[in-house]
This record gives sequence, C-alpha cells and structure tokens, in this order.
Amino acid sequence: MKDIIIVGSGLGGLSAALRLSSKGYNVKILEKNNSAGGRLNQYKENGFTFDVGPSFMSMTYEFDELFRYCGIENPIKLKVLDPLYEVYFEGRQEPYRIWKDLDKLAHEFEDIEPDFRIKAERYLKRASEFFHDTEDKVVKSNFNGLTDYFLKISRVPLKHLPYLKKKLWTLLSETFDSQVVKVIFSLVAFFLGSTPFKTPSIYSLLNYTEFIHNGYWRVEGGMYRIVEEIVKVLNERGVEIIYNTEVSDFHNTNGSMEYLLDKNGKRWNADVYLINADAASFRGQILRRKKYSETALDKMDWSLAPFTVYLGVRGKIDNLYHHNYFLGNDFTKYADKIFTSSVIPSNPYYYVNMPSYHEKQCAPEGCENIFILCPVPDLRYKKDWKDSEEFADRIIDDLSSRINFNIKENLMVKKIMSPEEWESEYNLYRGSGLGLSHGMNQIGGFRPSNKDEKFSNLYYVGASTVPGTGLPMVLISSKLATERILDEH
Ligand SMILES: Cc1cc2nc3c(=O)[nH]c(=O)nc-3n(C[C@H](O)[C@H](O)[C@H](O)COP(=O)(O)OP(=O)(O)OC[C@H]3O[C@@H](n4cnc5c(N)ncnc54)[C@H](O)[C@@H]3O)c2cc1C
Repeated sequence: MKDIIIVGSGLGGLSAALRLSSKGYNVKILEKNNSAGGRLNQYKENGFTFDVGPSFMSMTYEFDELFRYCGIENPIKLKVLDPLYEVYFEGRQEPYRIWKDLDKLAHEFEDIEPDFRIKAERYLKRASEFFHDTEDKVVKSNFNGLTDYFLKISRVPLKHLPYLKKKLWTLLSETFDSQVVKVIFSLVAFFLGSTPFKTPSIYSLLNYTEFIHNGYWRVEGGMYRIVEEIVKVLNERGVEIIYNTEVSDFHNTNGSMEYLLDKNGKRWNADVYLINADAASFRGQILRRKKYSETALDKMDWSLAPFTVYLGVRGKIDNLYHHNYFLGNDFTKYADKIFTSSVIPSNPYYYVNMPSYHEKQCAPEGCENIFILCPVPDLRYKKDWKDSEEFADRIIDDLSSRINFNIKENLMVKKIMSPEEWESEYNLYRGSGLGLSHGMNQIGGFRPSNKDEKFSNLYYVGASTVPGTGLPMVLISSKLATERILDEH
C-alpha cells in the first residue's frame, strides 16, 4: 500500500483524500491550521455559527459523483435557492428578485427590458451549448502539455470561437439594453473573483448554470457540514489529519520529492505528495521555482481579494433574503478603478448572506447571522489594512440604511477579515480570495498543471490548478489529480 501525504485540508485536499483512500492508498493530511476545510471553514462566537467563505454552490451533482466514486451514499443535504438572490441598486428601495423561472424574471424586468424572455433564452441557449461542448472535453480533462490542450480544444465546435475573444460585458451589451439587466447577469464574474470587463464571455456559461442547468443550492445545517461529513468518513478510514503543521521546505533526489519539512523542522516522508496549498505560490515560495518567483507571481492575474465581515445581530430583519447584492449606480466606473486602487471605496458594492433566514440554529433565538463580502484590491495594490474597522463601519452603515435596520445598535458579534487575514490564515497569495483568475492565458493548459514539472511523485489539487476555482471545480480537480496518481503510481 503506497503512502500519500496531502498538504492542506481544503475541499481539494479532503475530497482527494476520500478518493485516494477508496483506492487503497494510505493517506495522511498536513494542515497548517487547527481545523479542516481551508476557505470552506467555520467560525463560532457568542452563540453564532458563521460560514467563513463559501455560502452556496452550483453543479451540486459533483458531490454525487465524489461519493459515488468512493462507494458511499452522499450524506450532504442540499436545498435549492429560488429566488436565487436579490439585487439592490442605490436609490431604489425595492430589490430586484432574481427568479430561476424566466417567466417570473421577465415579469420582474418588464418595465426595463422589453422581450427579456426571448433575449435571455437566446443568450442562455448559446451558453448551454458552450457548457456542454466543453464540460467533458476540456473542463474534466487532464492535459499533458500545451499540444495536448490545443488538441482537446480543437474538438470543441468552431462556432464557439467568437466567445473566446469577447469579454462578458461586451456579450451582455450585445444581448440586453437595460444597464440593470446587464449588471445583474454580469454578477457571475464575481464568483470568479473578477469583473465582467476582464472576464471572457465563455463564462456566460455560469448564467446557464444558475438559471437552467442546476441552479444555486445551500447546504442544510450550513456549508461546513460538507467538511464535517467528509472528515467523518476519513476518520472512520483511519486517514489522519495532522493540524498545526505548516510545510515550509522540501528535499528531493533523482527527480523526485524525498521528504517535506514542516516549520518545526520535522520530516514527512511518503511515496507520493499531493499539494492542496495554492499550486502557483507553493511552486514559488516552497519549491523556489524561477517561473513562480515573487516577481513572476505578482505579474500573474489574481482574483479579487475578499474583505469579509461576520455580524451577530440582536433582532429579526424581516426584509433581508438569504443572498443579496448591494450595488451603486456607476458599475462600469466602479469596477474599472476600484480593484487596482490603494484606497478603500467610498461607496462599496458588496454581497450579503443571511443564513439565519433558512438555518435557525446558526444564531441564537430572535437574532440574525450576517456575512458580508466586499471584493477589494489584493495586497499588491493596497498593502495595509489599518483602516479595516473604518471600512467595515462604512459598509455596515450603508447596509443599515438600505434595509432600514440599525445594525450597530444591535451588534452582538463583529469579526472582520481583510485580505491580510485571508493571506495569513490560508496562505492565499497577496490575499487573493479565489486564487489565479480565469483569463484565457490562465485556464486549461495555461493554468499551473496538477502534475509537477520536475518531481515525478508530486501533484497538485485545488483552486489554482486545473480546472479552476469554486467548490464544484475543486471537486473535479480532486478527480483529475487522483486519476493522474492512479495512472502513474
Ligand atoms: C470569501 C469567499 C467566498 C467564497 N464563496 C464561494 C461560494 O459561495 N461558492 C463556491 O463554490 N466557492 C466559493 N468560494 C471559493 C471556494 O472557497 C474555493 O474555491 C475553495 O474552497 C478552494 O478550495 P481549495 O481546497 O483549493 O483551497 P483551500 O480551501 O484554500 O485549502 C487549502 C488548505 O491548505 C492549507 N495550507 C496552505 N499552505 C499550507 C502549507 N504550507 N502547509 C500546510 N497547509 C497549508 C490551508 O490552510 C488550507 O486549509 C469562496 C471563496 C472565498 C474566499
């Protein structure tokens, strides 16, 4: 039985551990923190239970696939979200309610986008064709170098070529007339940690996944249930997770990794190593590869950094839904400038999740649990976050006035995570929340491979390797890495 060490217990590391232990490997996980889950984590204070990062997911059938692969019944209970979310624009008291049902959505937009249904159907049909023409051929595929990648791409019908060259905002502008509708459809770019002005139009496929394909789902009992369920099975199988153990160095011989070293100088030996820490920055910071030097890493495109606030609030807020976006009225100007600025935005755009809307156990009786996520510049652009309190207060004041509820007067818990904390907690490069971004030059064969360039027994899993970021992609990533390891070891 071969020994495998996985570095990191994010969803990538945990799901790979589940797959590899199912195939008879002897798996051990090293985790720098004192809990499992990585960004998919949990924070508890004063009777409130917060999900630290993800608050919903799409393509949930990837969980069925994971557990089926491991011969286990899927223990994760999901609930579909409909409406998907609500969107507040500055100066408009009522939010737009974003229904999955296109007829209901057309009704919501009837005053601002004539023929919405016809336009949306045409747009989503194209996105659906692209999704299904690439899901198996490209997204769920390993590549052996660029030639192999181009070969696989060449099997995608040529009609999709214009998609590759266009930005999402351009495609939306060609499709819809109303600025409001364009902005709402472009919010999917935020799930990739970017803006629609930089995101390629191929990601209109995310609109297809939200409205038609599988929708958005929340996890019954909170997102951390995913981690708890996987860890339970790993414990039953004797897979050890060794906490408070940060890998900081390595030793190699004859083209293979011989052992890893943690910060206390302890050696960790295995036959095969699978890295769930960021696939680009691990190569640079730990393996000291030139291609991933600090200068090279800084030149890469990184997804936006998160600024997150966790609030426990006394009192019920009746007019706030589970998922909400609070936006201003100058999206183009805002998105254009804000993410490379060193100054906190005066009128931030942000996302608010109130899990206590559905999950009563995550807040004490009569209270609400609020998570705020504001995408901000990463630490390359804004290096110090001493003004975190001021920024959080600015968002809280704005939210209070827009939902007509005085949050400050009713605060029981307030925790802030700026890009500095995201970087130090999970080793996220420059505090980038979702890892490497998804421009055409950083996807597929251009993304850091899940197989190491130099060491034959070293592999990668997670958001910055193939296929990409987000919970479903990370589950696919664990399958791709496992397939490689099974083939080669
Ligand atoms: C604020 C936020 C909100 C998000 N919302 C959503 C959402 O709603 N839906 C969705 O699908 N996705 C969402 N995402 C994205 C999603 O969280 C990630 O894509 C996914 O969790 C990444 O998993 P991973 O396993 O690749 O990495 P991680 O979760 O980062 O796991 C890597 C692990 O490795 C550990 N580690 C790092 N370096 C070392 C080292 N040297 N030694 C030992 N251990 C190490 C880290 O501590 C961590 O536990 C969100 C992300 C953020 C930040």
